[in-house]
Amino acid sequence: MGRNSTSHADGIRGSVHSVARRTRPPGKRALARAACIGKLSRSYTPGSRIVPNTEDRYCIIGAGPSGLATAHQFQRAGIAFDVFERYHDVGGIWDIENLGTPMYESAHFISSRTQSAFDDFPMPADYPDYPSRTRILQYLRAYANHDGIRSRVTFDTVVKRATPVDGGWHVELASGEHRRYRGVVCAVGNNWNPVDASYPGHFDGEMYHSSRYKYAASLAGKRVLVVGGGNSGCDIACDAAPVARETLISFRRGYHFLPKHLFGVPTDAFFRSGPHLPAWLAQPLLTLLLRVLVGDLRRYKLPKPDHKVLETHPIVNSQLLHYLAHGDVRAVPDVRELNGERVTFVDGTSADVDVIIFSTGFRSAIACLDADVFSAERGAAQLYLNVFPDRAGLYVIGLFETDGSLFPVVSKQAALVASVIVAQRNGSDRAAWFERQRTGARPDLSGGIKYLASRRHAFYVQYDEYVHHLEKMLKRMSSPVRGAA
Ligand SMILES: Cc1cc2nc3c(=O)[nH]c(=O)nc-3n(C[C@H](O)[C@H](O)[C@H](O)COP(=O)(O)OP(=O)(O)OC[C@H]3O[C@@H](n4cnc5c(N)ncnc54)[C@H](O)[C@@H]3O)c2cc1C
Repeated sequence: MGRNSTSHADGIRGSVHSVARRTRPPGKRALARAACIGKLSRSYTPGSRIVPNTEDRYCIIGAGPSGLATAHQFQRAGIAFDVFERYHDVGGIWDIENLGTPMYESAHFISSRTQSAFDDFPMPADYPDYPSRTRILQYLRAYANHDGIRSRVTFDTVVKRATPVDGGWHVELASGEHRRYRGVVCAVGNNWNPVDASYPGHFDGEMYHSSRYKYAASLAGKRVLVVGGGNSGCDIACDAAPVARETLISFRRGYHFLPKHLFGVPTDAFFRSGPHLPAWLAQPLLTLLLRVLVGDLRRYKLPKPDHKVLETHPIVNSQLLHYLAHGDVRAVPDVRELNGERVTFVDGTSADVDVIIFSTGFRSAIACLDADVFSAERGAAQLYLNVFPDRAGLYVIGLFETDGSLFPVVSKQAALVASVIVAQRNGSDRAAWFERQRTGARPDLSGGIKYLASRRHAFYVQYDEYVHHLEKMLKRMSSPVRGAA
C-alpha cells in the first residue's frame, strides 16, 4: 500500500475512532457513515459503545521511544496500527511529569547526540554532545509530530491485558473496551518496576528508591547515602555533592568509569569512529586507555573492579571522580545493617545519615501479558533477536540493555518486525526464510563479552554485534530469498 493511501485510510479510521470514544450513542448519520465504511462492530445495540473493527490492525502498547519507532516503521510499511499510551503525551520515561518515571531534573543522555538518534530522524545539530532530558523529550515530541504519528496515539488509555486468540490477539483496555487485533507490539519500557534493597535493622530517616528522586534541592543540608553505583546512583551523588551536608555512595562491587569525552570527542563516537574490534582486543586496549586516562580507582577509595571492562553496563560519568577527589562525595562499601540514623557498612565503619536513596535498578515486566504467554522475568532466552517470542503476532520492542543508545536500535528492531509482517502478509518466501531463522540456532549477541550474570544483564546485548545482526536480517528481508539458510 502506498503512503498516500495509508494516510487516507488512517484519516477515515481516525474519524471512526473519535466516534468510538463518545460516551453518548452516536446519531443516525454517524452510524450510517461508520457502518458504510465497515468499521462498526456488527453487534451494536443502542446504548452500547461502538467498537471499531481492528482485526486487521496491530496494537502498539506504549508511546515512549520504542512505541514511536514502531509506529513510524509500520506507517512507512503500510501496516495498519493503533497506539495506546497510558499517560497524556508521548515520551515515556523522558517526561518527568509521568507518575513513576525514574527521570530526575538533572538527567542527561549518557549516549551522545550523533550516536543516539532514531534511524529516520537525526537529533538537531545545535544539540550539545549530551542532551538534557528536556531536550530529549522535545526531540521525542518532534519525532511524534513528524509524519503525523502523534495523532495516531490514543492517550490516557492503559492496555490491561493482551491474550492470544485463534489467529489474532484479544486486547482489553482499562476502559472496559475489548478489541481484536492481528498482532500486538509491547513497547512498555524497562524502568517502571523499582527493585528495593533491604537490610537488617530499622532506619529512622527517609528511605526511597532512586525512581522517586527528582531534584537536588530535596537533598540540601542533609546527610545523604546513595546505595548503588550505576549511572543514576552516580548522577544522584553528584547532584547531592554541592548541596548536601555530606554525601556517601555505597558500592557493592567496583565498576569501570568511562569519561564522557576521550580526546575531546564523545566516548561512544570515539569508539565507533574506528574499526570494530573483537572483544579479546577491545577489552585490554580499553583497560590500558582507562589506566592512562583515569588511573587506579582505589585512589578514590573505590573498590577495584572484580570484572573486566565492558562485562557490566558502562558507567559513563566524568563528575563523580571529580567530587570524590575533592572530598565532596565519599565512597563506602555495601551496607551491613541499619540502626536508627546509623548505617554500618560491611567493613565495620559506620555513618549517621538522614536520607538513603536506593539506586538498585528495575525489574523488567510486561504486566499486560500473562506469564504463560510471555514472562519478561525469564530473560532473553525466550526471544529470537530480543524481539520475537515464540508466539505468532507478538513482538517486543525495547526489551534489552546495551552499551550504546537505545533509539537507533529500536528503529532497527521495529523495521525488522515491519518487514516480517509485510512478508507474511504477502506470502513471500522471505517469511518462510525468517521463520526458519527464528526457530533455528540463536545467534550470539554478546560480541564475545562474558556479561556478569545479574538481573540487569538478563537482556544484555553488545551494541555493535546486535546492530550488525539486525542490519543483516533487514538486508536479507529486503532481498529475494530462495530457501537458503
Ligand atoms: C536515568 C536514565 C538515563 C538513560 N539514559 C539513556 C541514554 O543516555 N541513552 C539511551 O539510549 N537510553 C537511555 N536510557 C534508557 C531508556 O530506557 C530509553 O532511553 C527509553 O526511554 C526506553 O524507551 P521505551 O519506549 O522502551 O520505554 P519507556 O520510555 O519506558 O516508554 C514506555 C511507554 O509505554 C507506556 N506503557 C507501559 N505500559 C503500558 C500499558 N499497559 N498501556 C499503555 N501504555 C503503557 C508507558 O507509559 C511509557 O510511556 C536511560 C534510562 C534512564 C532511566
